[in-house]
Amino acid sequence: MGNVSDFRSDTVTRPTEAMRKAMAEGAVGDDVLGDDPTVQKLESMAAQIMDKEGALFVPSGTMGNSIATKVWTSELEEVILEERSHIFNMESTHMTFISRVTPRPLPSNRGAMEPQLIQKHIRQPSDHIPKTSLICIENTHNNWSGAVVPLDNIQSLRKIADEHNLKLHFDGARVFNASQASGVPVKEYARLADSLMFCLSKGLSAPVGSLLTGPRSFIQMARRVRKALGGGMRQVGVLAASGIVALQEMVERLEEDHARAQRLAQAIADLPGIILAPQNIQTNIIIFGFDHPQLNIPQFLEQLKNRGILALPTTGGIRFVLHKDIDDQDVNRTISAFKEILSG
Ligand SMILES: *Cc1c(COP(=O)(O)O)cnc(C)c1O
Repeated sequence: MGNVSDFRSDTVTRPTEAMRKAMAEGAVGDDVLGDDPTVQKLESMAAQIMDKEGALFVPSGTMGNSIATKVWTSELEEVILEERSHIFNMESTHMTFISRVTPRPLPSNRGAMEPQLIQKHIRQPSDHIPKTSLICIENTHNNWSGAVVPLDNIQSLRKIADEHNLKLHFDGARVFNASQASGVPVKEYARLADSLMFCLSKGLSAPVGSLLTGPRSFIQMARRVRKALGGGMRQVGVLAASGIVALQEMVERLEEDHARAQRLAQAIADLPGIILAPQNIQTNIIIFGFDHPQLNIPQFLEQLKNRGILALPTTGGIRFVLHKDIDDQDVNRTISAFKEILSG
């Protein structure tokens, strides 16, 4: 992609030609009044893909997760979620800000929370303590380097949720990456969750938008909450049109990103300063530790930037994210730059 290889996130992708064309030509209406045909088409596609009764187009994944939390919980309640999860760390505390519930973050094995540990943290009913009402899971897990949460772990969590009458929300910002890597159909993931959110604007390369899917009554309430949060949008078929292209044309190619991530991880893992186990790279996100005799993280990132390679620091390390606008040539020049900077 020209002179810059931008690994900062899979959100930096530009819309494809087909998306631009669909956006220009798509029919629109006023979606707040319920008559935008392109939004309706996207929402019914999403519901069908996830085999849920309904879907709601929302401006961001964060809004999708915050609406789900709001609909599934009430005040005086508590939500169990993973300690490195996006919802807990990266969504500006909407749990307390919007839903007025407390988060209960738990440790995990690369995103998979131990069923026994969850059992132990489900509160017994009492006037003095919050009531546990929701479990959130994230798959793939962003801050665990795009790890795929194993299906049997999610099955165990579903069982616990049923036993204790809890809801299970699936942050599937990258659920299509998870499905490509594991071979588990997205429908199977969605079946185990009460609600599932996925992003069109990550690996699928659409400019804006996420979908929240779930049962009909949940989506009805979600629509009201979206409006209250200021997320009702008018001729938003313009955006939905690109989302339809994303679902039709951009899912299959995610495996290219995974293959390139694996190739990049293997090529850099043994270089001086890099702390990385390539077998942990399952999808499109590479997070590695960095401990070099001459360079610290900002210095290394600066040197990469001077060579047209962009990446972001993360807690204790560096993150590289693969996406459609990174090709084999970008990966090759990045490998060369790593070798030059770190071994030189
Ligand atoms: C990006 C992301 C979100 C939120 O999406 P935005 O559209 O950026 O608000 C939620 N969960 C995960 C795991 C993400 O990576």
